[in-house]
Amino acid sequence: MATLELDSVTKTFQDGSDEIVAVDDVSMSIDDGEFVVVVGPSGCGKSTTLRMIAGLETISSGTISIGDRVVNDVKSQDRDIAMVFQSYALYPHMSVRGNMSFGLEESTDLPDDEIESMVTETAELLGISNLLDRKPSDLSGGQQQRVALGRAIVRDPEVFLMDEPLSNLDAKLRAQMRTELQRLQDDLDVTTVYVTHDQTEAMTMGDRIAILDGGELQQISTPLECYHEPANQFVAGFLGEPSMNFFDVTLADGHLRGDDFEYPIGSEIQSAVGDTTELVLGIRPEAVELVEDPSGDHDFETVVDVVEPMGDENTVYLRFDADAGEEDATLVATVDGFTRVSAGDTVAARIPEDAIHVFDRASGEALH
Ligand code: ATP
Repeated sequence: MATLELDSVTKTFQDGSDEIVAVDDVSMSIDDGEFVVVVGPSGCGKSTTLRMIAGLETISSGTISIGDRVVNDVKSQDRDIAMVFQSYALYPHMSVRGNMSFGLEESTDLPDDEIESMVTETAELLGISNLLDRKPSDLSGGQQQRVALGRAIVRDPEVFLMDEPLSNLDAKLRAQMRTELQRLQDDLDVTTVYVTHDQTEAMTMGDRIAILDGGELQQISTPLECYHEPANQFVAGFLGEPSMNFFDVTLADGHLRGDDFEYPIGSEIQSAVGDTTELVLGIRPEAVELVEDPSGDHDFETVVDVVEPMGDENTVYLRFDADAGEEDATLVATVDGFTRVSAGDTVAARIPEDAIHVFDRASGEALH
């Protein structure tokens, strides 16, 4: 069983007299055959985490186990992992066949004809059989990426580690490879850790996503759970495009009071919030509705600032107070592409109570 376990893993680097904590007390258990995407902003510790699992970086404290074996002191080549890098890292002087067979020739005693048939089979799986005699320089980016994957797959490792493997491809090819990789991983059923900063990859590819910020694990859960039930304000703001709207509010007399609005909340949210009064109200742009007339406590008169037509939908930037100018809080709404609104229009925006999120302003923790 190739489960992968990180237990309180920390990595510090010394930069002169400064200590950089790149990965801070991260724990996660990844099931056999599971696909976990590690995502987060630049510098959050994604690559360092992957490199520690790969054995390319030492671990400052904590343990990493593959199956029931603690691998902290096991050399990279003895961990039974295969890694795919952003740069592909193919050997330029070798053919595709050579690139794919080299690792097996070096690390196993398998006879040549067996290696040859493993390479042939993997090449078929990836649709690159016709490229086996070419050199990497004679391949497109997408083809090179397939070879890099083939080289990893042919080794039949316990764990795949992938560091932004699609980021050098153009958008169309990236989308195609995304689905191909998912299909492959489903077929091969190999435990996979996949690092990316691309949230589309995170949302669509992973069984679970692990979101890092500042070296700390913020949440590890299914993509939809992270999206709909974010553990904190960071996760809520990181996932989703355009980002969730946030407003600083204070709870008083059953109302969330912002600079430009008052928002009544029912007993369920009030009890979830408890005694905390300094809060942040969050609402996703797609949850904001534009309605004919303000008719309820959760409807607000707003003025359209900017409309960005995207074809299938419009992103509408609204202000609560037409005269407040730049300083006024903006409410972003994503609405159907057929909705006709223009800059300067006065519209009613509804913020449904069942769609709001409430965070503790001091800690960022999600309260509701
Ligand atoms: P990116 O998406 O930009 O690749 P990342 O999330 O993969 O970023 P890491 O490369 O893991 O982030 O880096 C995490 C932190 O550790 C950063 O602050 C980085 O500057 C620091 N760091 C990484 N490697 C070293 C090193 N060898 N020496 C010193 N600091 C390092």
